[in-house]
Amino acid sequence: MRYVSTREGAGGITASQAIIRGIAADGGLYVPETIPTVDMQFIRRLASLDYRGRAVAVLGLYLEEFSRQELEQIAAASYGDNFDHPSVAPVHVLDDETAYLELWHGPTSAFKDMALQIMPRLLTASLRKNGETRTASILVATSGDTGKAALEGFKDVPGTCIMVFYPRDGVSQVQKLQMATQEGTNVNVVAVDGNFDDAQTGVKKIFADRDFAEVLDGRGYFLSSANSINWGRLVPQIAYYFSAYCDMVNAGKLEMGHTLDFCVPTGNFGDILAGWYAKRMGLPVGRLICASNDNNVLTDFIGTGVYDKNRPFHLTSSPSMDILVSSNLERLLYCLTGDAARVRDMMGRLGSAGRYEAGSDLLAAVRAEFAGGFCRDEEAKAEIGRVWQEHGYLMDTHTAVASRVLRDLREREGAARPTVVVSTASPFKFGGAVLESLGAVTSETGPALVEELAAFTGLAAPKPLSGLGEKKVRFTDWVAVADMEKAVGAFLA
Ligand SMILES: *Cc1c(COP(=O)(O)O)cnc(C)c1O
Repeated sequence: MRYVSTREGAGGITASQAIIRGIAADGGLYVPETIPTVDMQFIRRLASLDYRGRAVAVLGLYLEEFSRQELEQIAAASYGDNFDHPSVAPVHVLDDETAYLELWHGPTSAFKDMALQIMPRLLTASLRKNGETRTASILVATSGDTGKAALEGFKDVPGTCIMVFYPRDGVSQVQKLQMATQEGTNVNVVAVDGNFDDAQTGVKKIFADRDFAEVLDGRGYFLSSANSINWGRLVPQIAYYFSAYCDMVNAGKLEMGHTLDFCVPTGNFGDILAGWYAKRMGLPVGRLICASNDNNVLTDFIGTGVYDKNRPFHLTSSPSMDILVSSNLERLLYCLTGDAARVRDMMGRLGSAGRYEAGSDLLAAVRAEFAGGFCRDEEAKAEIGRVWQEHGYLMDTHTAVASRVLRDLREREGAARPTVVVSTASPFKFGGAVLESLGAVTSETGPALVEELAAFTGLAAPKPLSGLGEKKVRFTDWVAVADMEKAVGAFLA
């Protein structure tokens, strides 16, 4: 299977090369030239496997250069006791039509672990396969959760080092502390004086700077990405859509072969895009509901076909979704049109005018598979309180956006189809906002909120979060957006 750039469409490289490069030289994202398909037999067989087995089966369809045994070893190391739940990604059934797919049982308590516990292993294996001897230097722009998950995934991995940029005022205290206390000899964390889009644009600029790449090459480094634009991030995520489907069947909530909807709290469009790949592969997915917070650029896009990032940027209590440029949407645009020139044109307009129009054919194709909705911060918070009151189930602020959007959609339609809400973070990661949603009055800040939420709800906090207060702070630097490249040069001296 060959991988092509969304802005080129031709040529093509192997999966391992796509994982090493992260982003194409023309600024495009790598996508498989064709999407592998499966039959119901395949899905039935998955239903009897554990998460690791399901992941190996799905990954094997995309990563042909990896032997089955190699993938089994990688999956065993990636989805083992680093997760605090034996099912790795369990489904919590709420009622007859609604379940929550919990993707936050990994070491950093957010769904990014699903990909970032395995991606560094895929990358080092890819480096070996391609005879690469330079150090892979991972650059990450994070809206909060990716940074910590990438640091945890790459720490002390031979042949790699990692530098993370996060928006100075755009992440929660717990997220900041998680990153600032990161251990490992090959890691660096720097705050950026800007928002997430500034940080992401800054990182993209560094990747595009050929002269800088040459300088680094002379020092024995090359840049690679662990952002969700890397195919190695996206492909592991396809597996949990299959897994959730199987678990719903196994729980007796769905008949094998019947369609299941997914409602996904969305930022960079990586998570939900993995669901779309699963659907295209043949998983009986009905529609994919793209849920946004106040930064509802995607809702508008799905509604009107106009993508316009020229709008106020809102800081919300679901910071990992505070994004106005959803990079992975480019992959969908390419896959639906098969027209690299058209994608190039749209992305060019996005770069120059901050806006593009999809055209009616493309809009219709998007709307055939996606629905979109958004809710306000207070509405998401009210949803946390309601579900806790009515069901004794606690969710975080991001999951709550999706949960609320789904409920509003059902009310509008007057019907409820079986739907899995993708739950992307532990409520303990956003303790302050969750406590507030439950009506608790708190004077605590930072890691003390973890204990307070545990006391208030009687639930146990994930271990890595409850120990955060005692860890040593290692990283306190911040830079202006214009100085990001200089900071990378200093780290890779
Ligand atoms: C990253 C993240 C999201 C958004 O996922 P995308 O793949 O960027 O759309 C949602 N919720 C949480 C908790 C996240 O960390």
